[in-house]
Amino acid sequence: APGLYLVPTPIGNLRDITLRALDVLERCDVIACEDTRETQKLLNHFGIETPTVSHHLHNERDRADELVRRVLAGERIALVSDAGMPAIADPGETAVSLAVAAGVPVYALPGANAAVTALVASGLPAERFSFRGFLPSKSGERRSALEALHRELQSLEGVAGTQIFYETPHRIVEALTDVVAVFGAAHPVALARELTKLHEEFLRGTAADVLRALEAKDRVRGEMVLLLAGTLSAEENAGSESLAAAVRRVMREE
Ligand code: SAM
Repeated sequence: APGLYLVPTPIGNLRDITLRALDVLERCDVIACEDTRETQKLLNHFGIETPTVSHHLHNERDRADELVRRVLAGERIALVSDAGMPAIADPGETAVSLAVAAGVPVYALPGANAAVTALVASGLPAERFSFRGFLPSKSGERRSALEALHRELQSLEGVAGTQIFYETPHRIVEALTDVVAVFGAAHPVALARELTKLHEEFLRGTAADVLRALEAKDRVRGEMVLLLAGTLSAEENAGSESLAAAVRRVMREE
């Protein structure tokens, strides 16, 4: 049926594409891509020959208009980003809001997303969480953003869930240093690196533990998700303290 189809793509492991995503990519009229060259590699891998058009942050508004017009004319448009779920720290939101405003059908396919994948294996509470995207890249702004978050979590005493951030390898040590300064060395955190890839790794423990583990590497590489415990009930707090202690013991024994 005509519509705008949001199609998630793998975040590392190509086998994480879904059968339905392949069907939609193959049968739609055009694939709107964050980067056509990046998506072309995926399409070549799966032998899909559907035409592509670019749809990135810099032309999002104009292209979104055009995509909605094409759906109104009866086309099936797939929208993809370079990796993972479109519109999550990626282009897509504008096209969806224009499509909704124009009354055209929007279909989202479930699939790969780094934040949720990291959350469920982090060991931190997964029932409630908040996705925060990227922290500011400038150090002063990052520190203020974390301070504001800390105040916000304290005011939500007992109801704030796990906080999820995307981070880059060249800023992660600075970011964790700020987390130690603002949330305290004992704050429970997890760092998920290279999810679904060959060198997938989770570092779990207190902010100070994870910072130390990163500093012990000669170079931090790869894509990563940083997760901070929210405000915890006394009971949960006791649980993560003992978890952190257990992690430290295992690390020492290694
Ligand atoms: N739309 C994507 C999604 O649904 O997850 C996110 C796109 S955002 C521009 C890219 C960021 O996602 C990376 O900087 C990293 O923080 C995170 N990310 C993407 N792939 C990852 C992976 N395989 N392992 C860990 N983090 C990943």
